[in-house]
Amino acid sequence: MGTAKLHAGAYGDVSERRRLIASLRDIFGARLATGEAMRRQHANTLTWIANEPPDAVVWPETTREVADVVRLAGTHRVPVIPFGAGTSLEGHVNAPCGGIALDLQRMNRIIAVRARDLDCTVEAGVTRRQLNQHLRDEGLFFPVDPGAEEATLGGMAATRASGTNAVRYGTMRENVLNVTAVMADGSIVKTGGRARKSAAGYDLTRLLVGSEGTLAIITELSLRLAAIPESIVAAVCPFATIDGACNASIQVIQLGLGVARIELLDAAQIGAVNVHSKLALEEAPTLFVELNGTPASTREQVAAFEEIARACGALDFAWAADADARRRLWQARHDAFWSVGTRWPGKSVLVTDVAVPISRLAECITETEADIRRSGLVAPIVGHVGDGNFHTIPVFDPSNLREVATLRGFLARLSQRAIAMEGTCSGEHGIGQGKIDALKREMGTGVEVMRQIKRGLDPLNILNPGKIFTL
Ligand SMILES: Cc1cc2nc3c(=O)[nH]c(=O)nc-3n(C[C@H](O)[C@H](O)[C@H](O)COP(=O)(O)OP(=O)(O)OC[C@H]3O[C@@H](n4cnc5c(N)ncnc54)[C@H](O)[C@@H]3O)c2cc1C
Repeated sequence: MGTAKLHAGAYGDVSERRRLIASLRDIFGARLATGEAMRRQHANTLTWIANEPPDAVVWPETTREVADVVRLAGTHRVPVIPFGAGTSLEGHVNAPCGGIALDLQRMNRIIAVRARDLDCTVEAGVTRRQLNQHLRDEGLFFPVDPGAEEATLGGMAATRASGTNAVRYGTMRENVLNVTAVMADGSIVKTGGRARKSAAGYDLTRLLVGSEGTLAIITELSLRLAAIPESIVAAVCPFATIDGACNASIQVIQLGLGVARIELLDAAQIGAVNVHSKLALEEAPTLFVELNGTPASTREQVAAFEEIARACGALDFAWAADADARRRLWQARHDAFWSVGTRWPGKSVLVTDVAVPISRLAECITETEADIRRSGLVAPIVGHVGDGNFHTIPVFDPSNLREVATLRGFLARLSQRAIAMEGTCSGEHGIGQGKIDALKREMGTGVEVMRQIKRGLDPLNILNPGKIFTL
């Protein structure tokens, strides 16, 4: 489904675009590309939405160069779409109105690590994997973990990403201390210092975190870091029913047991993981759990977890104390999305993302399972259940219109179900193009406030237009 008709006529025509590209070529030389393959790589593929490539791709190396691109694009009224690693899942980096993809991968310097303050400053194109490799010898890590290791920290901030560790360490919302950003008029803004709290005016950091490239382009970020815990234990724990697994997660959270991760995989997802990651886990609803602390505190937490889980129908506990076994376990969890593609070859795959208050989690997952069965869909379930956040991974044939219609009906009902339970249509992936309607249902008049902010900060609507809402 293309969305190119949005804003028709609002932007510079073909000759304006050519003039802009010629000016950018003078500045960027070989760091500008217009070949079709490169343009298509810079539009979304991990979604049911059609690929909508930009007119050109540029690779800036400094904040000043980003500002130059944005200023020139404004002069020619051509959209600019910031691009990190393209791992977002809702059509975020598509170019429905054409424009320039601004790929930040060359802005990948780790500027400072301040172990005493437990923070660091990086350029926006630094990936999560790169930062954690850099930090390992210091006994520190950056905890936000969206599964896609190659995701950039700028892209993660822009989507307000989270992942398996959020239950203990929070999301990008809690872990970004400040950003340096280029605004739509080309001005450069730093949103704050590194103090752990601040009451200095409007919170511009949190305005830009989650703004999906529609308000500004983040070029640098200061981030909170965490110390690698002294003791880490992880377990796989199958349950008789998915309800039992959900209820165990709810009790673990309500009791304040210090879990670092608590992830649910349903039986179908375990089947897929077994094939993809060559494991032999029992095909039952299963919790993957990790506890962090001192050796004494993790021992106590293990005992408390086992007691709760047994009362909820746990069938077994396989504790993986050594680092290699743990790594294999979490790698299998991170490969859940890809494992569905392996298990159902030849089919397309997408991933949904809702979150509800933890007390409604079991109900929301049970109703969703029933909906999947009634719709005749194959859609394994996997979730960051400690946050009340879960995904389904439907497989489908994009050329089968009936299948696509069934799928879209399911997606709409899923968002509606979560919203009706006072939850959200997106726990962590964001809105992009795919959830514009769901956001309207969730936020109502709040979307108009968002539009006013957008109009105030980007009156020409050149920054990533057609995302989050339409103007
Ligand atoms: C297998 C898989 C598993 C995933 N699991 C999770 C998960 O558990 N939790 C989770 O939160 N996400 C998950 N994701 C989604 C994804 O990893 C995130 O959305 C990620 O945060 C995007 O980072 P990126 O660098 O790829 O950004 P991109 O996809 O390149 O961009 C994302 C959005 O941010 C904008 N943007 C990018 N860089 C900047 C910048 N510097 N300044 C301003 N705007 C910018 C783009 O215009 C776009 O709107 C998963 C994705 C995959 C493929």
